[in-house]
Amino acid sequence: MNGTEARRKFNSVNPTTGEVFASFDGLTDAELEVKLATAHRVFHQWRKEPLEVRTSMLLRLAGLFEAQVDKLATVMTAEMGKTFAQARGEVLKSAMTCRWYAEHAPALMAEDLVAMPSGSASIRYLPLGPVLAVMPWNFPIWQVVRFLAPALVCGNVGLLKHASNVPQCAIALERLVREAGAPEGVFQNLLIAASKVAGIILDDRVAAVTLTGSENAGISVATAAGKALKPAVLELGGSDPFIILPSADLELATRAAVNARMTNNGQSCVCAKRFIVHEAIYDRFQELFLAGVAKLKLGDPMDAATDVGPLSGDSARTDLHGQVESAIAQGAALLAGGAVPAGPGFYYPPTVLANIPEGAPIRREEFFGPVAMLFRAKDITDAVRIANDIPFGLGSACWSNDAAEVEEFIRDTEAGCAAVNTVTASDPRVPFGGIKKSGYGRELSYHGMREFMNVKTVLRG
Ligand code: NAP
Repeated sequence: MNGTEARRKFNSVNPTTGEVFASFDGLTDAELEVKLATAHRVFHQWRKEPLEVRTSMLLRLAGLFEAQVDKLATVMTAEMGKTFAQARGEVLKSAMTCRWYAEHAPALMAEDLVAMPSGSASIRYLPLGPVLAVMPWNFPIWQVVRFLAPALVCGNVGLLKHASNVPQCAIALERLVREAGAPEGVFQNLLIAASKVAGIILDDRVAAVTLTGSENAGISVATAAGKALKPAVLELGGSDPFIILPSADLELATRAAVNARMTNNGQSCVCAKRFIVHEAIYDRFQELFLAGVAKLKLGDPMDAATDVGPLSGDSARTDLHGQVESAIAQGAALLAGGAVPAGPGFYYPPTVLANIPEGAPIRREEFFGPVAMLFRAKDITDAVRIANDIPFGLGSACWSNDAAEVEEFIRDTEAGCAAVNTVTASDPRVPFGGIKKSGYGRELSYHGMREFMNVKTVLRG
């Protein structure tokens, strides 16, 4: 790393006003070097601590999340615009996940004994080293916790490069891990630009990398990880299908559909984004969906009556609106929304597009905001064909009470998750991740923990 780059500023911008309300100095190259050296050194102490030291730290962290839920939620809402209620839910889910890993780590890391024809063998699960986590702003606490809880409890140390627009969330996480009793250096926040990430991955002191973010960031991270021959987990974009078939409870499914699209102001990788509905029930679905969307209140995310807050930034809104205009130019019908509101903040109204012609390139894009695409399907096979006609493969949902249809959906949908009569969601008990351009590797559960472990075979004569 050369020492010539000037110190960069990281700003907290309130998306409800567009105003900068806090500003932080980024790391110089020399300061970054100290953090990498610290991570390398501290790893060799942390990994040797009894497991109970690390599980106790996670339990204390869970308690801190619970005790400071309102304070943390306020920061999240102020920096990226999610509703306060959803921000609180995210902090509490993070606490629950820390507890889950604290409770299950002993079993997940227990040595496996293997019978051999002569002698014996076992499998040990050991940490890899400092892991770099490149994280997005859309779930600024949860996305980090689902990395840090399994990675730290098994003895790795973490280096966080958070999204540039949530510096206060990043700073709070580092502080909380310290307050939970982790020694300095076990979890360090790096206030750095994305352009520094490849250099860190190539650094010999860093063992592995995990990224949650866009396809372009995934390509950069995977390229550097490939060059350095290091393990990488990539959680990238998605355009999840939400299939509804005639045997489903249509009203229930449609209520879930509206929530699944609009949660987190439409900015979740596993938001349902494409609603693929059997032609026999399509017209009624469209009527119910539009009625549900019309009821949503767009407004201040701190107001308990608000359903949908602003987008995270001005450029996010410009890009999203550009996609809506492009969809219309490609033949889509605009059924709701679609106009940038006047006034301060980065608001965008819940928007519904339908009748998007087969072959229109926009059908294959991810809309990262409150924009739904509606499709008609002839049957389950046609629905799965439409569902799979995208570069992504993250989540998927199907609402049906027909066992054969459900089986076809689970078997044939190209996705890392198949939700039946429910919505896609992450949970520490089950793995989370995608296929195709949604990335590779898994987070959460036993599978997420193993991504950053050395599965060591021990042979005894
Ligand atoms: P993004 O631009 O890729 O940013 C995510 C993180 O990657 C940020 O920390 C960002 O830093 C960093 N980054 C950006 N470009 C990079 C590069 N070339 N090399 C290394 N790091 C880079 O993502 P976004 O657009 O803000 O977030 C939305 C995307 O994330 C969507 O596609 C969404 O579906 C996806 N996502 C996926 C999941 C999942 O679990 N699969 C979950 C949430 C979001 P800066 O902020 O400094 O640019």
